[in-house]
Amino acid sequence: MKNHTIKSGVVSGDNYIKLINACKEGGYALPAINVVGTNSINAVMEAAAKNKSDIIIQLSNGGAEFYAGKGMDDSFQAKVLGAVSAAKHVHLLAKHYGICVILHTDHANKKLIPWIEALLDHGEEFYEQTGKPLFSSHMLDLSEEDIDFNLSESARLLERMAKIGMSIEIELGVTGGEEDGVGSDDIDNDKLYTQPEHCMEAYQKLSPIGHFSLAASFGNVHGVYKPGNVILRPEILHNSQKLIEEKLNTKPKPLDLVFHGGSGSEKEKIEEAISYGVFKMNIDTDTQFAFSKPMLNYVETNKKAFMNQIDPEDGTPYKKLYDPRKWLRQCEESMIERINEAFIDLKSKGKSISSTIQQ
Ligand SMILES: [Zn+2]
Repeated sequence: MKNHTIKSGVVSGDNYIKLINACKEGGYALPAINVVGTNSINAVMEAAAKNKSDIIIQLSNGGAEFYAGKGMDDSFQAKVLGAVSAAKHVHLLAKHYGICVILHTDHANKKLIPWIEALLDHGEEFYEQTGKPLFSSHMLDLSEEDIDFNLSESARLLERMAKIGMSIEIELGVTGGEEDGVGSDDIDNDKLYTQPEHCMEAYQKLSPIGHFSLAASFGNVHGVYKPGNVILRPEILHNSQKLIEEKLNTKPKPLDLVFHGGSGSEKEKIEEAISYGVFKMNIDTDTQFAFSKPMLNYVETNKKAFMNQIDPEDGTPYKKLYDPRKWLRQCEESMIERINEAFIDLKSKGKSISSTIQQ
């Protein structure tokens, strides 16, 4: 077992690939949880440590902006610096939680290419100082553009990333719904299903440059909606793997696949997708709901403490109840409970390859 372990902390380069292979060989996937601040980041790391599972922490452009502060005048700078700041927070703390963390950014469409490029400026600077990239991987989502543009831009950016031990995640076919302003509810149904030929084209173009992961669409949708709107067809993932395996004579399951819109998905479809080579499942909507949920009960139970600092009748001080740590901790605990569930669904519980956990 020992030679399969890696040091706890943020993983990148060869260790990132080692972790992906451990997932695929072990038949499990890692939850990729969107975060917006230190509360959600720490909750994710705590959940991973408690479950002895490795984890993926990711920021959307909006999440990054929020991390820097909604009050910053220059919102582009906020999106960049918020992501950098969050990444540094994770680099500093992850190793002390004892687990391996993949650091990722979420959907960047054509308009957000400058965001990725600015993050790479910071990533290169960090690499010069530490020998490691800031992020393990960035996602470039040009799925709404034509495939030639999608793949040539992805190749261009991957060239830059590969030099500092980074990977890229691309998207082919469109994930339905909307994630933080990227995407729409109004797309042709056939675009919701990736064509296996396109996956092969991506493999041929990108794998000689560096490592890439692929969000291939199989009817998955962002957000939680009434069931029945879209039919999940994970066999598309299987067909894409098979096509590449047979035509290009590769190892089994050559594609490292990502499942977007994991919130609210049926457990059997998740299991099936993992068996076809999914190592990452994005969860945002469900953990947002979980974080917010305890607030209702807390405020209802402690109503007076949200209206007065001291009870107007008997003078009781309410500081201990309105102290933000008190209710934010309940939000964190509730988010952790939802992530506990994800580790079970994705079968990653107890599977950390961190040497700290293995000792
Ligand atoms: Zn997504």
